[in-house]
Amino acid sequence: MNWVDEEIVTLPRTGLETIQLSRLKKLVKRVYEKVAPYREKMNEAGIKPDDIQSLQDLRKLPFTTKDDLRDNYPFGLFTVDMEDIVRVHASSGTTGKPTVVGYTEADIRTWADVMARALSFAGVTRGDMVHNAYGYGLFTGGLGAHYGVERLGATVIPVSGGNTKRQITIMQDFGSSVLLSTPSYALNLAETIEDLGVSLDDLQLRVGIHGAEPWSENMKEEVEQKLGIRALDIYGLSEVIGPGVAMQCLESDHGMHVFEDHFLPEIVDPDTFEPLPFGEAGELVFTTLTKEAFPIIRYRTKDISRLIPETCACGRTLVRMEKITGRTDDMLIIRGVNVFPSQVEHVLVGIDGVEPHYQIEVNRQGSMDTMKVMVEVSDSVFSDEVKVLENLTKRIQREVKDLLGVSCSVKLVEPRTIQRSEGKAQRVIDNREL
Ligand SMILES: [Zn+2]
Repeated sequence: MNWVDEEIVTLPRTGLETIQLSRLKKLVKRVYEKVAPYREKMNEAGIKPDDIQSLQDLRKLPFTTKDDLRDNYPFGLFTVDMEDIVRVHASSGTTGKPTVVGYTEADIRTWADVMARALSFAGVTRGDMVHNAYGYGLFTGGLGAHYGVERLGATVIPVSGGNTKRQITIMQDFGSSVLLSTPSYALNLAETIEDLGVSLDDLQLRVGIHGAEPWSENMKEEVEQKLGIRALDIYGLSEVIGPGVAMQCLESDHGMHVFEDHFLPEIVDPDTFEPLPFGEAGELVFTTLTKEAFPIIRYRTKDISRLIPETCACGRTLVRMEKITGRTDDMLIIRGVNVFPSQVEHVLVGIDGVEPHYQIEVNRQGSMDTMKVMVEVSDSVFSDEVKVLENLTKRIQREVKDLLGVSCSVKLVEPRTIQRSEGKAQRVIDNREL
């Protein structure tokens, strides 16, 4: 066994909780003293730093949301002087201003450490060539992963997103053994490999680490099969640090170990925001325990997950979180029913002849919502008899209805019709004016 941070990732619960509590107390005190918006919210809630005496007291603290970040745009929630900030990142919002995060030198070191730990969970070692296809720039994916690879001592290929054919050439020539990319870009790469007639035998790829967008287990299997790799989940978001908040290990078939010595997870009810018991699904909330420049308290991620009570076969004691099944943001309400694009994907990927490329279009006719699913079918199916296509259409409609409780229309389209993503896929076009 050659684990990064072996001692920390195998700590008994009580030992871990002691570390968490001492870090939490210091964090709350520092944030209260240094950041006016936090202090005001805590005063309003009648909470003082000394009220935090146990991990259960965490729930007394107010939540932080994306709106708080926007209200204090760009640097209002930083706890250090700007001269101590060595880097900023930003994520684009769908509306209005982006959210901005900052890092001290120590934060960058912490980030590289947690990312190196994540890579080690996937069995990455110094001998690996790591093909980093996450976008470089203001987005945290590219640079976050990059420094983790270097910290681990493996070789990073900073290829970033786009120029997909050239990526395949680099993979062949450099012997890329580890792929870091969004799930949809991994599929895009797989498809291009097929188109170019490149054999998987000519590639050295062994494992993929995929995150930054929700994807189904079925799509994961598709990536594994098409690229001939083991595909693992990684979780992170810029507001918390970037990639490297939680990582699936090789021994686990689902769930990602949360790096609880740095990031304290909670699951809350998405409607009432009350903390939920262990094992129940709800909105994921994070408190950072070790960040300097931009610590965050009880950040509502809008991601839907659950914490897994069972211990993992690998022997690590860090709790696991379930793969993200959707975002409260992505959740579509269609005729009063909650629908996640990942559920539609789950249906599609389970059907032979259907490709994992789809788009959901929602319209309103009068007062009635309609959902249309456009999905690519394989070449052989598309050139098949009309009857075959009709049956396939009916089957998708039936299975979507069974799983979601909502009826939809289905349009089968030719392979390569739906626009490919070079980052995050656009799965939903919502034409309703709500
Ligand atoms: Zn494990």
